[in-house]
Amino acid sequence: MIQLGLVNELKDKLRDQALRDPLTGLHNRRYLEETLPRELKRAKRNGACLSVIMMNIDHFKTINDTYGHLVGDQTIKFIANLLTSAARASDITCRFGGDEILLVMPDMTSTDALKRAEHIRQLCEDTSTSQANLERGLTMSFGVATYPEHGLQMDEILIKADDALYQSKQNGRNRVTLWQLEY
Ligand code: GH3
Ligand code: MG
Repeated sequence: MIQLGLVNELKDKLRDQALRDPLTGLHNRRYLEETLPRELKRAKRNGACLSVIMMNIDHFKTINDTYGHLVGDQTIKFIANLLTSAARASDITCRFGGDEILLVMPDMTSTDALKRAEHIRQLCEDTSTSQANLERGLTMSFGVATYPEHGLQMDEILIKADDALYQSKQNGRNRVTLWQLEY
């Protein structure tokens, strides 16, 4: 009996590891692909909304080139911790790719998601110089999209958040953009 308990514990641990990014401890894309469609179904059932924020570090390559890969890694960890401290229990934080992180917020309108993104943007700008071990501050760009306002399916919402993020980069970085048909 005890052995069976240990095996199950180990199984849970392995499953959790497979669904997390080893550098930051945030969830990975695989977890997102399992969870987001479920959250969208739940939102549909409850007539609720759901917002996502796609965020990307500005000029991250320069940080790697100037301070080295280890400081680059520390910077990604700093951002992950900042997000974890700013997230609600129901939020999902996911390392989407290299320097890109996605925040999924059930029951959040686009207006509130914009405020949330702006809060994180400011927090990053204000705290990065003292806490991320960098001489110069660090900024991030953000794109926001909302179910059902901007799309019904996971892929559409993620593409639109990414599109809005691209607009933030195009318009000078260190800013938040809500998806629109035309900017
Ligand atoms: P932009 O403002 O347009 O986002 O510019 P950027 O320099 O952030 O964008 P770019 O996509 O050119 O660079 C992202 C870099 O992130 C490239 C890649 O080497 C680096 N990167 C990706 N994953 C990791 C990681 O786990 N650790 C470190 N240190 N660097 C990483
Ligand atoms: Mg970047």
